[in-house]
Amino acid sequence: MNLLAGHRRIVVKIGSALLVDRESGLRREWLTSLGADVARLRAEGREIMLVSSGAIALGRTVLGLPSRPLRLEESQAAAAVGQIALARAYSETLGRHGIETGQILLTLGDTEERRRYLNARATVGTLLSLGAVPVINENDTVATSEIRYGDNDRLAARVATMMSADLLVLLSDIDGLYTAPPASDPSAAHIPHVAAITPEIEAMAGGAASLTSRGGMKTKIDAGRIATAAGAAMIITAGDRLNPLAAVERGERATLFSPVANPVTARKRWIAGHLNAAGRLTIDAGAVRALNEGRSLLPAGVKAIEGEFSRGDTILVLDEAGIEVARGLVAYDCDEARRIAGLRTDAIEAALGHAPRAAMIHRDDLVTALPVGSQEDLHHA
Ligand code: GLU
Repeated sequence: MNLLAGHRRIVVKIGSALLVDRESGLRREWLTSLGADVARLRAEGREIMLVSSGAIALGRTVLGLPSRPLRLEESQAAAAVGQIALARAYSETLGRHGIETGQILLTLGDTEERRRYLNARATVGTLLSLGAVPVINENDTVATSEIRYGDNDRLAARVATMMSADLLVLLSDIDGLYTAPPASDPSAAHIPHVAAITPEIEAMAGGAASLTSRGGMKTKIDAGRIATAAGAAMIITAGDRLNPLAAVERGERATLFSPVANPVTARKRWIAGHLNAAGRLTIDAGAVRALNEGRSLLPAGVKAIEGEFSRGDTILVLDEAGIEVARGLVAYDCDEARRIAGLRTDAIEAALGHAPRAAMIHRDDLVTALPVGSQEDLHHA
């Protein structure tokens, strides 16, 4: 079965062990074959994001650091050296197919704080719309233990949810989930499909990590929980062969985790679940109609604004009778929102002095207050 079939927006996580050999450094032949896979998928009109590990592994090889666990400062220095080499390798590899590469280095706060999350999402989304392939890693040179993702499995899952990807592929050193660690337990059986991450599934995950990768199966299950809850499917498969994505399409052994819901619904449920609204917008009847048709909230329809909020905060949207009709993540800080309330889109730039975001709340960030039971309609919003 071709597990990539039907997926349009795909995050591929590449583990360090696939990309970097401890002795000889970058595994160029493998990377070239991955580049060919990515180019083919792009040519089919799919959007591909790569979350690549390997900065620390590559940097330690380049710097000739000893093969004991590194101190934090040593890892950070290794990452600084390795990340440059990594970025160059991706840009050369994809460049041969006429594809531009954009490097994004994230720290934990970039996905956990709403405003930075929206910024990161806008940048990655723009790269995709320009046809570039974002290559994403944790910003290891500044991340310390309290403020880091720590492993790229979970980082990749956060990127998949941030970008509403429909599939996350973890290219790993193991070809999927087993009932027990296969290296130590000969009776371990491969599990081709996980419909839901139950406590039994978690119990199978053990904790072991390999020499070069931080994440064992446990972080992969954590990633699965994050991705599937937001509506993305996830695949764990062995990346340690040439053309690893073509191998997935050929039906080589893998574990598929099914999403719990479609991405839009899951994301909107997440927005709808926010407890504290930072402000309230009152909108006119035309805007209420637009929202119910699944469109964005434009500044023109906003009649009044209450509260102190920042871009990315959750705010309530009320009709002129004061009834909540929607809630969403606002695209402007409250002072700017006040300046552009009621203005047509073409007048916003003059009011703000900079190029505007068209929507006060983008439709992807908006959930209308539908009666219980019509949740499926959110899917079309
Ligand atoms: N961000 C780390 C690196 O690039 C890798 C973390 C991981 O392998 O999970 O070296």
